Amino acid sequence: MPILAIESPVTSRVPSTAIPAPAGSTAAARKHGIVPMPALDWNEQVAAETAHLYERIKGVIPAVEWPVFAPYVKAINELKRTRNAVILAHNYQTPEIYNCVADIVGDSLQLAREATRVKADIIVQCGVHFMAETAKILNPDKTVLIPDSRAGCSLAEAITGADVRLLRARYPGVPVVAYVNTSADVKAEVDICCTSSNALQVVESLGSDTVIFLPDQYLAKYIASQSKVKIIAWKGSCEVHERFTGDELRIYRDSDPNLKIIAHPECPPDVIAESDFTGSTAHMIDWVRRERPKRVVMVTECSMADNVQAELPDVQFVRPCNLCPHMKRITLPKILDSLVYMKEDVVIDSTVAEKARRSVERMINLRN
Ligand code: SF4
Repeated sequence: MPILAIESPVTSRVPSTAIPAPAGSTAAARKHGIVPMPALDWNEQVAAETAHLYERIKGVIPAVEWPVFAPYVKAINELKRTRNAVILAHNYQTPEIYNCVADIVGDSLQLAREATRVKADIIVQCGVHFMAETAKILNPDKTVLIPDSRAGCSLAEAITGADVRLLRARYPGVPVVAYVNTSADVKAEVDICCTSSNALQVVESLGSDTVIFLPDQYLAKYIASQSKVKIIAWKGSCEVHERFTGDELRIYRDSDPNLKIIAHPECPPDVIAESDFTGSTAHMIDWVRRERPKRVVMVTECSMADNVQAELPDVQFVRPCNLCPHMKRITLPKILDSLVYMKEDVVIDSTVAEKARRSVERMINLRN
């Protein structure tokens, strides 16, 4: 019989430019090795090599700040090549990350879809922990890193896998939809995942007159307002979007009747009621690209307006925005540390990951 394969030790995969990781390092560091920290000086060469990237963000990052960012941007982009790594960044990442080091940007749905197509050996997820878990669920054989594993999410922390099992016992036979803003444990217990881009489509795809929808009570209310399907919700909320109020938006509207207001569906109902358009971050960006309002309020996390402003300088963004403290844990120095030291490695129990993968893939495979 022919030989089927010739296997070799995992350590042989350490590229020649990397050195073996010291004892006690993460599995990712043992697999890929670590590399010396690049020089981070600001000089004429760095300025020349990064000038085209600064052009993209000059409208939102003052020139005086660029010498701080540019050495990291250059080092990260070079290390991505030598490490065969790709950076996925959520729309809420800061402009220097979103515009200057990310390879793929988008909302949770776009990032989940793109994660299935990635060819690189290493994925660095610039977002929060559930997003990195989703990338790992879809790429069990790749190394997935998150620059700061403390980057959590109030929605993901609002519910556990045990809570879902109790809900199933209370409502036998009712299908369960989980927003992707949940842990792998929760995704493993539900029938299908959704994002704010496709939540209505997912709920209606199940052919059930009642659906359990968790954990965002406000997204659940918004979907219930758009559908005949009866929704059983969970009392979770996004700590960023729940702080907006309809009163606050009315003050903006009164000051300029031509102002457009667009809101994310994680906002409370009185905010949605004040809005001209409601949609996911990707749908909000598409709306501004299409409608080109003179002045617009993007009722969502602050960095998104900065990122769209960099692309559309003719639109004026009024900014009653709230920062997501979890998204802001991701910084250029931490991304560089990720690529140098191969940290922080996302690890999911294989049984949990396999069950969770079914829920995520069922969502991804839904026809548009
Ligand atoms: S903005 Fe809200 S939903 Fe998004 S990561 Fe932050 S806390 Fe979670």
